[in-house]
Amino acid sequence: MHIYSPEQKIEHLLYKSKNVQVYLKRDDMIHPFISGNKWRKLKYNLQKAQEEQKTTLVTFGGAWSNHLLATACSGATYQYKTIGFVRGEDINNPVLDMCKLFGMKLRFVSREDYKDKLKLFEQLENKEKCYFIDEGGANSEATWGCKELVDELANTYDHIFCAAGTGTTAAGIAQGIQEQNLKTKLHVIPVLKNGGFILDEIQKYHAPIDQIELHLDYHFGGYAKVKPELINFVKNYIKATGVMIEPTYTGKAMYALHDLIEKDYFQEGTKILIVHTGGLTGLLGQLEKFDK
Ligand SMILES: *Cc1c(COP(=O)(O)O)cnc(C)c1O
Repeated sequence: MHIYSPEQKIEHLLYKSKNVQVYLKRDDMIHPFISGNKWRKLKYNLQKAQEEQKTTLVTFGGAWSNHLLATACSGATYQYKTIGFVRGEDINNPVLDMCKLFGMKLRFVSREDYKDKLKLFEQLENKEKCYFIDEGGANSEATWGCKELVDELANTYDHIFCAAGTGTTAAGIAQGIQEQNLKTKLHVIPVLKNGGFILDEIQKYHAPIDQIELHLDYHFGGYAKVKPELINFVKNYIKATGVMIEPTYTGKAMYALHDLIEKDYFQEGTKILIVHTGGLTGLLGQLEKFDK
């Protein structure tokens, strides 16, 4: 499977006035349903599932999970059955409906049962034919796929920005930066509250952290939480650039980048890349917040 996403220079009045160059790695354009980093994270897992002659991909996620949808679509593409354990009560939404269209069997489990994912997996019939993929697709194989993002870059950057949920994508990018001997600083924006744990996660994958800066103040209250200033920011960004972003991940990372540019955090002439990690179907669950 070939993965490609463009590296696009973005014109914005703020960048011009502060004399910084900002590029966007359009991982949102990798695939409409296996969006952004989720394709990179699945790549080597799908290879391993094939080597191990598994027939079913089993994974886990919340009701709006981009990863569930990505797994459902890759399963349909590469002839795997898919089972998705969904956290919480039995509900319907456009993302889950699309998972079902791709043939995924959904199993809703209580928040309590959801905590022990291995146990849920062990209880499956035919589990020897099943391939376990953790929530968000987080594992070492996933970091190998994310590392390749750095190999694809045509330019050299002083700074790379990305949002973090589990930190797997950031770990892969950090490995890529190290492997290529780049001086690039990696700025990671956890989208959850108390995101300090992301550094431990990154280290678990044996990725280097010496060039990483963690920005802990852009979570806006926690995972999938928003505030009016974030919603306004996302709205204005979309209008000013023609690039669709959502407020759960890329919106928060982009807010952080713009805030730091405004505060003259960067020297003039600095070249910055921000990764658009995709996940635009998640916007369907947030749209009503935009009218307020
Ligand atoms: C899953 C996801 C992330 C978080 O990636 P991690 O590797 O878990 O840190 C970021 N952006 C989008 C759009 C996602 O769907």
